[in-house]
Amino acid sequence: MEIRLENLRKEFKEVVAVRDVTITFPDSQVTCLLGPSGCGKTTLLRMIAGLETQTSGEIYFGKERVSDLPPSKRNIGMVFQYPVVYRGTTVYSNIELPLLEEKLAPAERKKRIAQVIEVLGLQKYAHWDTSLLDIGTRQKVAVARTVARQPEIIMFDEPLTNVDVDTRVQLKQALKELTAQLKKTIVYVTHDQTDAMTLADQIALMQNGVIVQRDAPRELYNYPNNVFGGWFLGNPGMNFFEYDVEPVGNAVRLISPLFPTAMRVIGVGDNRRITVGIRPERIRVSPVELPNFVWGELSHKAIVVGGQYLLSISVGELLLKAKVRREVGLDISDGLWFECPLDWIMIFDAEGRRLEDVTIEPE
Ligand code: ADP
Ligand code: MG
Repeated sequence: MEIRLENLRKEFKEVVAVRDVTITFPDSQVTCLLGPSGCGKTTLLRMIAGLETQTSGEIYFGKERVSDLPPSKRNIGMVFQYPVVYRGTTVYSNIELPLLEEKLAPAERKKRIAQVIEVLGLQKYAHWDTSLLDIGTRQKVAVARTVARQPEIIMFDEPLTNVDVDTRVQLKQALKELTAQLKKTIVYVTHDQTDAMTLADQIALMQNGVIVQRDAPRELYNYPNNVFGGWFLGNPGMNFFEYDVEPVGNAVRLISPLFPTAMRVIGVGDNRRITVGIRPERIRVSPVELPNFVWGELSHKAIVVGGQYLLSISVGELLLKAKVRREVGLDISDGLWFECPLDWIMIFDAEGRRLEDVTIEPE
């Protein structure tokens, strides 16, 4: 069952939480709605669930218009930031109750309960009262109960935010398994890019009430269509440098200490102020001089996760972040040679939109 939103908008007095969003969440796929706190993710999700009434716009599930249906008629499963469980009953009963209400055949009911209990690692707690459980385990129960019902649409609103680190890892693994098995339409809200990259078939990136890009995780990461995507994704995000450029024939001339020579940039149209972007992990470094490499001073070196080095290189007035594997064998004290590969240079216009079909070459 696909979800289609058409010009969906929500205003809270003068605050516009969601700005005329038009998007399709495809059938049987996991779409992660990713964006910083306050950008409108929860509001969007609550409108889909019918928990919040839209100011304008329409919501369709498949061919059916559901914009005015109450939540109970939308048949959505939802997991919230704080686990919702029935207190004073066992984990087993928590999962069983909705299945009893749906009058599922006993054999099917038992099968589904056994399956979610196993995937979520709840065997040990099956007959515990939920009041005895920590918050992470209660969240597992909430996920188990929602998933066991197998609704056509399942939505998660930052389900990992409030659980401890160990549970996070287990829950994420379980979610990955469950979503692959279930083949339901899943919308997963998060502000955490790692969660989104791990779980998503595609990511919808949100900023200020607007979906700015919807793409497969790698595509979004490699080719953000605006500065925001380059900055928000990545750890750290893209390097950006702004330049005023002069036309030379059908191109513009870019003079930057990032490159050993003046460069020609073709395909920027009438833009005379551009932003050059490159991801830290695309920069190549060397202890010895190589063709097209530039010398930079090393101002800071730190080891980051995954055994990588995060380097701060100063070159001219610029400070460039580079992320390199430890094996590059740099025993660098004062400086190093670096290259910004031209294939990985992105050019953005003054409004921050990426200019496609740009060629950059030595003059
Ligand atoms: P997110 O989930 O991405 O953090 P929200 O959807 O919760 O963002 O909020 C989006 C914007 O709408 C924020 O500016 C928030 O303050 C505002 N907002 C959300 N819910 C309400 C509400 N019930 N009343 C007034 N403003 C709200
Ligand atoms: Mg939220």
